[in-house]
Amino acid sequence: MKRRKFVSGLGVTAAVGLTACSQSDSKKEHKTATKFDGKVIDWTMVTTWPKNFAGLGEGAEYLAELINQMSGGRMNVKVYGAGELVPALQVFESVAIGAAQMGHGAAYYWRGKLNMAPFFAAVPFGLNAQEMNGWLFHGGGLELWRELYEPVGLIPEPAGNTGVQMAGWFNKEIKTLEDVKGLKMRIPGLGGEVWKRAGGIPVLMPGGEVFTSLETGAIDAAEWVGPYNDLAFGLFKAAKYYYYPGWHEPGTTLEALINKDAYEKLPEDLQQVVTNACRTANADMLSQFTARNNEALQTLIEKHGVELKELPQDVLQELARISDEMLAEQAETELDKRILNSFKKFRKEARQWHKVSEQSYYEGR
Ligand code: CA
Repeated sequence: MKRRKFVSGLGVTAAVGLTACSQSDSKKEHKTATKFDGKVIDWTMVTTWPKNFAGLGEGAEYLAELINQMSGGRMNVKVYGAGELVPALQVFESVAIGAAQMGHGAAYYWRGKLNMAPFFAAVPFGLNAQEMNGWLFHGGGLELWRELYEPVGLIPEPAGNTGVQMAGWFNKEIKTLEDVKGLKMRIPGLGGEVWKRAGGIPVLMPGGEVFTSLETGAIDAAEWVGPYNDLAFGLFKAAKYYYYPGWHEPGTTLEALINKDAYEKLPEDLQQVVTNACRTANADMLSQFTARNNEALQTLIEKHGVELKELPQDVLQELARISDEMLAEQAETELDKRILNSFKKFRKEARQWHKVSEQSYYEGR
């Protein structure tokens, strides 16, 4: 229902979609038109991040830079931070209607429009970064993602990954499930829904309010990203304990949104530039987060005396049980069910393989 309402609400998008179809006839003509005629193709990229936001906003800038360089100056992508052209949460619509040709964000922001979108960013107790890439590129995930966005005239591409995040900053200790009850935590999306079902109180607030709310006790806990972002944000000054692991975001994939019509108008070699720039940016962001998180965690512990704590296994297991119930409820349409089944099958197999590979290795290292 939600989806139909959203799609019909975007009357403009339907028109854009039709235009894209009618233009596919002339695609052959474009394919051969690779000789540079001196006319630069200007693209606008709108993002859900503040300009140059650590890791994520930097990732958007890097992607634009790659496209500009790899195209040999034939394309010029200009990046706008959240609120500069459109507010963060209007990035999806903006690219869908072609007001911007590209967007950079995370699919879980579009859950209100498409139930299953979070599966392509992160869901509680979902896939880690390595597994997300495996599922998307070689496990059928990307095809399903494209099918989900196709009716609104958007092409999604994985364009970054944060790796496993942290559970968050807490001013109260979590020793048993009882401690979750009534605990006010800034935790958005499906993670927030799980928190609520476990008896906690999820609080929605923009990033700018997190620090003060935590410091004044208006909330008891807050999740953000991981050591690199959290150190820059200064959250260690507002909370006692830093809990792990980030069960709610085990390997968040960032997305590039590409307007289908704009993409199809590009000559084939520039289409390849855009796609492969996204793939390079996708791998690069995870490398950056891995290197920066390692350093930042040491700084938090050694310089700022942060107390690290692991969530108790029985608490994690209960949150995982609730998550699985909740994830199954998200699938409404036939496509939703195919997404859920593909995801669940991949996760089951990955769990088995990673138990005898990564997990065993980590424990023995
Ligand atoms: Ca987060």
